[in-house]
Amino acid sequence: MSANNLLNLVRQAGRRLDLSSLQFRLTAGVTALAILGLGSVALWASWKMQQILVGSHRQYVEDIADRFPQDIEFYSKTIPMPTGLQTAINNRTTPNLFLLVKRPDGKVIAQSSLLGQNNDVAATLTSLSGKPVETQVYQVGERYLMLYGRPLSLQESMNNTLYVAQDVTWDQTMFLTLVRSLGIATLLSILVMLLVMALYVQRSLRPLRQISQMTQLISADDLGQAQLQLGNLPSEVRELAQMFNLMLTRLSQAWEQQRQFVSNVSHELRTPLTIVQGYLQSTLRRSTNLTQTQREALEVATSEAERTVRLLQDLLNLARADSGFLYFHVEVFGLNELVSEVIGMARQFSDRVMAIEAGAVPIQVRADRDALKQVLINLIDNAVKYSAPDRPITLNIKQMDDWAIIEVCDRGYGIPLQQQTRIFERFYRGDIARTRATDSSGLGLSIVKTLVEGMGGSVTVRSKLGEGSTFTVTLPLEAAQ
Ligand code: ADP
Repeated sequence: MSANNLLNLVRQAGRRLDLSSLQFRLTAGVTALAILGLGSVALWASWKMQQILVGSHRQYVEDIADRFPQDIEFYSKTIPMPTGLQTAINNRTTPNLFLLVKRPDGKVIAQSSLLGQNNDVAATLTSLSGKPVETQVYQVGERYLMLYGRPLSLQESMNNTLYVAQDVTWDQTMFLTLVRSLGIATLLSILVMLLVMALYVQRSLRPLRQISQMTQLISADDLGQAQLQLGNLPSEVRELAQMFNLMLTRLSQAWEQQRQFVSNVSHELRTPLTIVQGYLQSTLRRSTNLTQTQREALEVATSEAERTVRLLQDLLNLARADSGFLYFHVEVFGLNELVSEVIGMARQFSDRVMAIEAGAVPIQVRADRDALKQVLINLIDNAVKYSAPDRPITLNIKQMDDWAIIEVCDRGYGIPLQQQTRIFERFYRGDIARTRATDSSGLGLSIVKTLVEGMGGSVTVRSKLGEGSTFTVTLPLEAAQ
């Protein structure tokens, strides 16, 4: 995998990483704790090991240095001083332990003979100023020395310094290797912990995700039956789900009351308004002595009353469909005749060019005659509203397998793609309706969908901006049962 691919992968993962998610926060929190906990244990262990190692070597070199004056005294009894000093040094010297005595001016009085074979150690010791030093570890090239310098008085000269150096390279290297291994083990443990925690947190949050998936499936239509499955959810999530179920019940009741209210209001208003509309129409028809202004006012009142009655009827139909009281009188009838009849009615209200395209064989459809009429009227009404007056409207009738297909095509303004999924929703009005159509309630297509689906069919739309729209209604054929 190239570096670029790897970088892309990391970028993608970064983009998918939701920093505000509970999963991220919990995993990050636990990982931070693990780093803090394991890291401090590792640091403390390293420090303790170093203490033990240094402590034991320090003790050793200090003991040698402290006993050295007695060694000199012992040898000086039998041999002269300079030789006694050298013998005491030689006696204590081992391949790992070196001694050197310096005068206050830095001049070497005597030293371990083995220093000749250890130039780097010899160089370090001779470079010292001749003053006492605290016991500590020095790095000399690739070697480590535990060095201690203490005052030493000899017969002829005071204020000399004795340096004792122990080679602790092996121990120090072992210690460093141990610290490195501990560091790697800590890092690996943190990584494993991070992985395990990420999986564990993801698993623990699965019930919450399940709940959110379940809630996504709940629509206004099935509020009454919708309940979240409690199963074996963890108790906190179960409590949340129970509260949610209670809320769903309350919502469903409120929704039902609202439906009932709309249904009652529509019903109560429709009858008097229909009567008002009837009186207005007959007054318009019968009165011969009306002035132009009075006639125009009556015409406006009639058309508004007509529009409101239609709207109330739509609302009533939707409310009935919602509560399951929309009944269809399904029968088998000729689709061609019905479409011709509807086109005839539409032509009375609009001077548009409307054409029917049908095959030679008449189609028998299984549906509710009045409901299908209303569906076609709504679709033709929209085709008229949302296309320029010089554009024709075509109705195609055909059959495919067990289905009768009616296409209502216009060459109008078209519907933007993002609105095509929403136009069948109640009260949804597209931009075109808001800017051009005054007679728009946003209910026409939801009525179409409710009626067509109630008759066992379906309705879809195909549309291109600036070119026009085709609404396709599919209904069962006579033969289909
Ligand atoms: P409305 O009363 O607004 O026409 P509908 O439910 O019949 O309500 O239509 C919903 C929306 O769909 C309309 O507001 C309009 O934006 C769009 N629409 C429906 N039919 C057509 C069509 N034939 N051409 C363009 N847009 C349409």
